[in-house]
Formats: sequence, C-alpha cells, structure tokens
Amino acid sequence: MRLHTDTPRNSAFKRYLASPACPYCKEMLLAPMLSELVDGVEIRHHWSCESCGGVSVTSLAVMTH
Ligand SMILES: [Zn+2]
Repeated sequence: MRLHTDTPRNSAFKRYLASPACPYCKEMLLAPMLSELVDGVEIRHHWSCESCGGVSVTSLAVMTH
C-alpha cells in the first residue's frame, strides 16, 4: 500500500522534507497555513504560496508506535 501525496514530481525527496516547494512557481514554502490530522494516521498540510498564491496539500503518515 502506498501513501498518496501531492509531492511535486521533480523535487528531490530530501529537499521536499526540508522545505517543500510550490508546485506552481517552485518558490520555497515556509510554513503550512493549516495542518490537520486525518483519521489519526495522516497529517495533512495545506500550503499557500506567498509568491503566486497557489494552494497545495501534502500528506505525511503518522507513526503511532
Ligand atoms: Zn507559488
């Protein structure tokens, strides 16, 4: 089973973890405007780009043990 994410396809994984980039203009996103816990197993970050105003969502699996 694979976790679906909206990770930009051309971003390196390490770079994505450090600081995600806007999928539209590639500007660095500093902090999510909203983070939510989904079903207790997934954290979903909502990002709003200050450069182009584009909104994107990333998901992270939560390790519960
Ligand atoms: Zn942008």
